[in-house]
Amino acid sequence: MDIILLGPPGAGKGTQAARLQTNRGMIQLSTGDMLRDAVAKGTPVGIKAKAVMAAGELVSDAIVSALIGERLDSATEGAIFDGFPRTAHQAEALELLLADRDRKLDHVIELVVDEEALVDRITGRFTCACCGASYHDHFHLPKIEGTCDVCGSHEFKRRPDDNEATVRTRMAEYRAKTAPILPFYEEKGLVRRVDGMASVDEVATAIDTILDTSQ
Ligand code: ADP
Ligand code: ADP
Ligand code: ZN
Repeated sequence: MDIILLGPPGAGKGTQAARLQTNRGMIQLSTGDMLRDAVAKGTPVGIKAKAVMAAGELVSDAIVSALIGERLDSATEGAIFDGFPRTAHQAEALELLLADRDRKLDHVIELVVDEEALVDRITGRFTCACCGASYHDHFHLPKIEGTCDVCGSHEFKRRPDDNEATVRTRMAEYRAKTAPILPFYEEKGLVRRVDGMASVDEVATAIDTILDTSQ
């Protein structure tokens, strides 16, 4: 099963993708994580992407599509596309990448959220520096203070682009370039809407129901 999690920054894509990866053996393919990794390592892709990401704008379609192409074969139990595709070109590139492998999308899960609430979600977001698990200052603290629930690490980090000004640009990019790809998937009958304002557990249950009733 190959699925897309679609929604603006802070909608909960990463949180839900990580959970599906743990529970179902699917593989989370997050272009944001891949790009941050490239920036940290100082690769040619990272050097190109760094300033674009800091400004909250979109990295080129060719770069992100190539990153997905390199990882797709590792997702033998199914891929969770998290933060990809973000433009019509990327949606087309994904169709080709999947068709080349005799695969096709099963669901496009849209997390429907309220933009104002997202600013709070993003400015409160932090992750485990070791395993990447996602937390929030108010909505989702680790069960034991200062200790990652997943891996036990005591080190956490915050993204440099998780500030209000950059978030506004990222939301504008979502509205202008990403939301318009929904009709493409709508026509194929693939779009499933989930209330992303519900709690993390409620959103997870709604996604599970979609995946379980389609098997
Ligand atoms: P995205 O990957 O879509 O940008 P994240 O999964 O990183 O979003 O979530 C953004 C922030 O909001 C994180 O700090 C996360 O812990 C928190 N969060 C995720 N889902 C919910 C939810 N349903 N309710 C409240 N907070 C949430
Ligand atoms: P969020 O979790 O807030 O939705 P991501 O981690 O997915 O953000 O992406 C962070 C940044 O990385 C984006 O603002 C953009 O600059 C870049 N990026 C990630 N995925 C893509 C993509 N598919 N196309 C273009 N740029 C991307
Ligand atoms: Zn961890």
